[in-house]
Order: sequence, then structure tokens, then C-alpha cells
Amino acid sequence: MILSNLTKLVCSCRCYIIKPVSFSIVPEVRNLIWKRRLCFKTKSLKVVIQVQRSRYSSAMASSSTSGGSKLRLIDVGANLTDDMYSGMYNGSKKHEPDLYKVLDRAVTQGVEKIFVTAGNLEEAKEAVNLCKDNERLWSTVGVHPTRCSEFDTKVASPDEFIRELKTLLDSNKGKIVALGEFGLDYERTQFCDEETQRKYFTLQLVELGAYANLPLFLHCRAAAKDLHSILSENRNCFPRGGVVHSFDGTLEEMNLFLELGLYIGINGCSLKTEENCKVVQEIPIDRLLLETDAPWCGIRPSHASSKFVKTKFEAAKKNWSENTMYKSRNEPQTLKNVLEAVAGIKELSEYELADTVYENTIKLFL
Ligand SMILES: [Zn+2]
Repeated sequence: MILSNLTKLVCSCRCYIIKPVSFSIVPEVRNLIWKRRLCFKTKSLKVVIQVQRSRYSSAMASSSTSGGSKLRLIDVGANLTDDMYSGMYNGSKKHEPDLYKVLDRAVTQGVEKIFVTAGNLEEAKEAVNLCKDNERLWSTVGVHPTRCSEFDTKVASPDEFIRELKTLLDSNKGKIVALGEFGLDYERTQFCDEETQRKYFTLQLVELGAYANLPLFLHCRAAAKDLHSILSENRNCFPRGGVVHSFDGTLEEMNLFLELGLYIGINGCSLKTEENCKVVQEIPIDRLLLETDAPWCGIRPSHASSKFVKTKFEAAKKNWSENTMYKSRNEPQTLKNVLEAVAGIKELSEYELADTVYENTIKLFL
């Protein structure tokens, strides 16, 4: 099919599935498809195009199954070792542990798999233990930028720390999906100064990147330039790529990370302002991943993206029972809200978006 015909076809309807989307990647076609927010996958260089009307969105919004198709989601970042899932909030006990209920609710909303984020050595050990006996859970291993001073304080030496991380990686192959979360956080330097963050992010990247041969789960706050520069200088240390999770940067910053081959992870903290939403609108959907960052980063009514949220989850503090969410604590079932918001912003069917993001996630991590 020649370009002008395809252009006419694509522009005349609201949404298609194009499969297998393959062309010998003519840039104009790629741009056109992204502009029209269509699903786009590359299969081969042979030109085979089939265009069909999609099952377009709104009718399938409110349930995790519709028309026989099932919503499939993967939460690529949830901090399930957090004390809140044991009922502890700022050191005081508010309720009994309820993680098993939290996981049940996630499944009900189509969240098939969850990657448990670890932010230091102890958390990584805990996360690995949690995931061992659960076929839906996988873990990360790494040290968060705000905790990088632990390299100098927790064990005899940074080398010893790296050895312990390597031991954990070696003994849990198959259950660890990413290195991280790690990166740079210049908004919270009260926990660890910028220089220490850069030093130990680079050390982890160099010592563990190629060694573990895992994708990266990257954290970036007000530090995109430095993060990009360290990653660029050490490109051979992450042959499998990675994701900049909880992305809240500018369009230019996003493009820099895309050029490095990275994916962009979106949660409620990426969807606060109209500027955030404009950036999300521009993320190529073949580079998009979704996450909750639970127990934090839920979409609040004050967020610019909240107008796209359709599913309301019951939450309580007083008279709380384990069958509902605990108010102000986020949990993986709300990944559905992130999907709804991103689908709304990008004017896409939730089901098509979920399918594409699911495939992106499997391709990167599993
Ligand atoms: Zn983070």
C-alpha cells in the first residue's frame, strides 16, 4: 500500500489496530501513526499491512472483562515491602497486615503480575522472599539514590556491599526482573547528597549492570541531565535497556531517555499537572509502561488527569475493613486508574493500550 493511501485511511477513522505493523519503517508513516495514537509494532521489514476497525473504547471502560476480552495489566513498580501493608503508619499500628487482600484485589482488576520495588539491601532481601512463593510477583535489587549513603555505613566497605548485592542476584535468578530502583534524586538531598548519589549510582551501574544482565529500573527527580550523562557514558553496562519510572520530566528530557533506548514509566505522580499530561500524550506507546508506585503516587482529585479516571475504589480509615482500600494508601489495583487516565489523555481504547503496554513489559523484563 502506498503512503498516500495509508494516510487517507488512517486519517479517516478514529482508531485502528494495524497488524502486523511492519513496513520498512518509513518515517512519515511512523509519525503519522504516532500522531493518530495508534498501536504500532515492528515485526519485519516485509510490507504487510492489514487495517481493521478496532473495538473502540468507551463501551469497555468499567469492567476488567468486556466482550470476552480480558484486561491484562502488569504493575512494574509497587513497594509491597512497605510497612503500610503490615498496618504500620509512621511507627504506629493502624490495622492488621492485609497484603494478601491487596494482592487479591489487584487480580480482580486485571493486574496479572507485579514487580516489587526494592530500595536497599534489606528491602531487596525482603522483596525476594515475598516473591519466591508467589507466581505473580517478581522483585528488583538495587539501592535508591536517597539511601546511597548506606554504601558507606551499612557494611564494611562499598565493595562488600556490591558483593552482597551480587550474592542476592546470583541466588535468585528468574525472580529478579530488574536492577533498581536506583538513579538520582536531587529533590531529596537531605537524605543523601548529590555527589554520593552519583558515585554509588555509577558504581552499581558499572559493577552490576553487565554482570546481572537485567534491565534497569531508574529513579529520576530533577536530575535528568546528570542521569542521562552517566547512562550515556556507561551505555555498555545495560545491554537490556530499562525504564525511567515515575517519569515527571519535560518532553526534551523524555526524548533524551528514549534516544538511549529506555522506556518511560507512568504513575499518578507523572499525571499531576496539565504539563505532565502533555508529555504523556507524546510518549510513543511502544515505549510506555504503567505502574502504581504503591503505597504512594495514587491519582488524587486535584491531579489534572483525574478527569479521565472512571473506576472509583472504595477507601476508608474509620470503620475500615480488610475488604476495602485503606484511605491514602495506594495499592496495585489502582493501576486501572492509571490506565484510564493515560488512555483518556492519549485518546486510546483502554483495552488496546493495556495490550500494548503488557507486551512492552514482557518484552523488556520477562
Ligand atoms: Zn522512584
